[in-house]
Formats: sequence, C-alpha cells, structure tokens
Amino acid sequence: MQNKFVIPGDFIGTSEEFIAGSGTYEEKGSIFAAITGNVKINPREREVIVIPRTNVPPIPKVGDVVVGRIVDLKNSVALVEIARIKGREDREIVNTDEGAIHISNVKSSYVNELGREFAVHDIVKAKVIDTRTMRLSTADKQLGVVKALCTRCRSPLKRKENSSTLICTKCERVENRKISEDYGLGII
Ligand SMILES: [Zn+2]
Repeated sequence: MQNKFVIPGDFIGTSEEFIAGSGTYEEKGSIFAAITGNVKINPREREVIVIPRTNVPPIPKVGDVVVGRIVDLKNSVALVEIARIKGREDREIVNTDEGAIHISNVKSSYVNELGREFAVHDIVKAKVIDTRTMRLSTADKQLGVVKALCTRCRSPLKRKENSSTLICTKCERVENRKISEDYGLGII
C-alpha cells in the first residue's frame, strides 16, 4: 500500500491496522482516500496519509520534452532511459518506463539505419508522442542528440560547423548523428 496511487474513495486499510491521517477518512472501521495522491504510511505511529498529487513526482505526458540517455539500440528502436522532463527539472522522476524512439520517429526524412543516428550513451532530447508505450520522437530541429562521445576513444564529439556531422576532439574520427540544433550548447 505504501506509495500506492489512490483516488477519493479508494480503500486503504482498516482502523485496526492504521490511524487515519490527512487526506484520508474513516468509515465503519475502514480507511479511505479523501483526495487523489499517493499513500504514505508512518510505520512507527501506524498513521496513514495521502500525499496530494501535486507533490507527486511527474509522469511524462504527451507533448512533454524529455531528456535521457540511449541505453540500447535495436534494429528499429532506440531505448532511452528518461532522466527528466523539460520544465519540471525540480522534480525527480520515479518509476518511469524506458522510452522508445522508433526508426520512423527519428527525423522527418527516411531513416535506413538507426546506428547512423544514435549511439549507446548519447544524451538525447525527445518529445513524448505516446505515454502508454512511452514512444518518443526526435523529428524536430530542437530534438535529437545533444551530447555524444566518440565511439572509438570516448572523447567528446564536436559539431562540424553548419553540418550534422560530428568530429572527435581527440582522434578526429567523424561520426553521424540525428543531432539537435542545441547540440553541444549545454541547453537541454
Ligand atoms: Zn575519438
């Protein structure tokens, strides 16, 4: 029950187990949620409260821009570990599923090979287009890779002026990515 998301009227427990605290009410020995939020149980006093939804860490919604790290590349999907939601940086994200960028959502033009657009460990900025499957898109000028390392020597890659090509600051290896126009600017 700890941390469980509840809406008003949801059964939380009995008055034998818990003391009804803020955000709850008791009726005939049962404790119910009075507000929408998450259940918190104080184990020492056995007091149960509901923390209002507004204090709950954010869950990405459609249209949100998220920042995350590419953790895996499959044939047609790049998996992203979402670190934060733009505009809600003050809130830590919890229990978020990995996001997925399908090859058809990388950019507006056709992508033949995902490995030419992303590499594992790249930091990307992407837009949420479906929350049920946590589908993300980078098909926008501001979206895409914002930070990347050389796949050979792990040194930072620098953007070649006016191009989508990246060059290693150390070994001069040239790599391609679907970059954001904010690449390397530190604006995330
Ligand atoms: Zn290098």
